[in-house]
Amino acid sequence: METGLTVSDSVGSVVYLDYNATAPLRSEATVAMVDALNTVGNASSQHAYGRAAASHVDIARRRVAGLLGCSPGELVFTAGATEANNLALYAASRGGRIVVGATEHPAVLEAARAHASEALTLVPVTLVGAVDLAALSDALCEGGVDVVSVMAANNETGVLSDLPRVIELAHAAGAVVHTDATQLVGKLPVDLAELDVDLLSLSAHKFGGPQGVGALFVRRSLRLATRPLLHGGGHEKGWRAGTTNVAGIVGMGAAALAADTGLNVEAPRVQALRDKLERSLLDSVPGSWRNGSPEHRLPGVTSITFPGAPADAVLAAMPTVAASDGSACHSGALGPSHVLLAMGMSRLDAESTIRFSLGHATTDADIDHAIQAVPDAVLRVRAALGNASKRVPA
Ligand code: PMP
Repeated sequence: METGLTVSDSVGSVVYLDYNATAPLRSEATVAMVDALNTVGNASSQHAYGRAAASHVDIARRRVAGLLGCSPGELVFTAGATEANNLALYAASRGGRIVVGATEHPAVLEAARAHASEALTLVPVTLVGAVDLAALSDALCEGGVDVVSVMAANNETGVLSDLPRVIELAHAAGAVVHTDATQLVGKLPVDLAELDVDLLSLSAHKFGGPQGVGALFVRRSLRLATRPLLHGGGHEKGWRAGTTNVAGIVGMGAAALAADTGLNVEAPRVQALRDKLERSLLDSVPGSWRNGSPEHRLPGVTSITFPGAPADAVLAAMPTVAASDGSACHSGALGPSHVLLAMGMSRLDAESTIRFSLGHATTDADIDHAIQAVPDAVLRVRAALGNASKRVPA
């Protein structure tokens, strides 16, 4: 039936609190991309058009490097973090063991399963969701580890890893260290001059760039042999064949610059909004609790369990709030979040958990709306299921 609504009209009144799934494009990225899309040129061509495209890509490379504190030559552009994670684990595995955190994104877990020819070790996490460093030490003691991969920040809980310690332990055991920093980059400062990680993945669409573009940082001093997953024309110094995605990379560069410039203001602003939302929801929904470390986490994420109210029913009961039950990447997949289960949560509680994630365009009004809509939806779902009085703290 013809409704006369455009997509943006139909979702315009829905508060968007799902930045960890994808963030809205920053206006700087939109403007830069439209400009790039309107110009012709293959960045590998030698003529003036090609050189102009290549120079736009160079500028973007410098901007992304600026956000990370690395050298532009240490970046390999990819089609996102999934590809960057796969490339990192493929390039760093040498037939030995791969060690990864139990709460990694499937783009690390499945890539590690595919590339660990000898064995894959999953390191458990603590109750607050951080990789258990004693267990990591034990895994490294067994020897023969090619690569350790521990995410910088978890996509479901926002929990930050103690990367300096992970790196210290892994390097002492002679392993290469990769981090999936998809959720960290653009949200909190990253300085690769200080953080001695060997490989780092990122994705533009998590910090206001376009979907389908990302990068892998490969530390130059690592002298890792070039080992591409995609073979072809030798683009990206042989690391990743395929015609350069000029507009996507330009959009990522513009988003990186904007995120970098605004970080000192944006992070505390987003954190204050997150804290206001979190406090209010915990106060108004009896028996609810927040998951993961309260202090070591991203500023814009809160994972809240509403016992007695299945997340899918709550989300359906509040169509004006876009949030997520677990990770959007798993939507369609059956079963509770492996992240929450790894943190010791029961299946039932994991299935009653909602992730709210905020970002650069979240407003006070968005949070005020959610503060009204979410408790109302949870209480209606509990009442409908006859769970109104269940699990309310004594
Ligand atoms: N790692 C993490 C932690 C993520 O949150 C995501 C996106 N949900 C990915 C990897 C995959 O990123 P991309 O969409 O760029 O492939």
